[in-house]
Amino acid sequence: TPGVRPLIAGNWKMHGTLASVRELAAGVAAGQASGADLLVCPAFVHLSAVAETLGSGSVALGAQDCHANPKGAHTGDISAAMLADLGVRFVILGHSERRADHAESDAVVLAKAEAALTSGLTPIVCVGESEAQRVSGEAEDVVAAQLAGSLPEGFAAAGGVVAYEPVWAIGTGRTPTEADIAAMHARVRAELEQRFGAAGSTLRILYGGSVKPGNAKAILALPHVDGALVGGASLVAGDFLGIAAAA
Ligand code: PEP
Repeated sequence: TPGVRPLIAGNWKMHGTLASVRELAAGVAAGQASGADLLVCPAFVHLSAVAETLGSGSVALGAQDCHANPKGAHTGDISAAMLADLGVRFVILGHSERRADHAESDAVVLAKAEAALTSGLTPIVCVGESEAQRVSGEAEDVVAAQLAGSLPEGFAAAGGVVAYEPVWAIGTGRTPTEADIAAMHARVRAELEQRFGAAGSTLRILYGGSVKPGNAKAILALPHVDGALVGGASLVAGDFLGIAAAA
């Protein structure tokens, strides 16, 4: 999108040791300054170490989830306020693995996104269709419904990010056709503009699902693709930086 700086975000999921994530973060931080903003999202227990490794450099720090409440009796959970306190700036919400593994509904994602905004975190709200929904031709309507249900009122004013991640393309090595990615991103843009007006025109819409250095250039060149959310390939600094260099 013209005038929008791309965001390349690494979702490290439940991977790494303290030593390996320090090394990975250092590798990313040492990469060439590129034409994109870089973000890494380690597991909660690694956030402090990665924050320390990244220091005051330009690579931003994100988390992979947060609780909807600012504090309270929620054993094992982490609030957005706790994340902000650590120097976290972004939080991935509604990833398909959380929607599946933790039965997160659009309403839950909405509540978490509200909490993120309250604590000054930028939410990256994930949406995407299943393979059955793609095959039956419902993909765009499924995604539009997820957006309507998951994005809070203050989303656009806070510069929120949407990640379109077809569930069947995550970790599978498969991607939609370029035409299908472009069509979906155009639909997401239209939904954002309808909901938020002009502010919706410049929100970043990331594509996620088997982005690799080899396919990044073609995907990132598509209209309304304003960056990528990268899983597997973000675990190798050179691959992640290769994707960023394609932006
Ligand atoms: C993800 O889970 O956000 C993702 C896009 O994973 P991968 O790049 O491994 O498909």
